[in-house]
Amino acid sequence: MSAMAATSPRQTMAEWCPTCEAETDHEVSIELRTESTKAENARYSREPYRITRCLRCDERRSQRMNNA
Ligand SMILES: [Zn+2]
Repeated sequence: MSAMAATSPRQTMAEWCPTCEAETDHEVSIELRTESTKAENARYSREPYRITRCLRCDERRSQRMNNA
């Protein structure tokens, strides 16, 4: 068991990194991105993305959240 770093403003999670080919610590944040296919409905298409950054190789990946 490990204690969480209370001073960090962002969440850190252990996740699989295909670049490192190992489970590494990732900095996780949520970002709203506007997907504008048409300008008129751009305000309805703000999609939450989950941004993860591997703390070992510094690779950033984004994943759309509402695909369930
Ligand atoms: Zn990595």
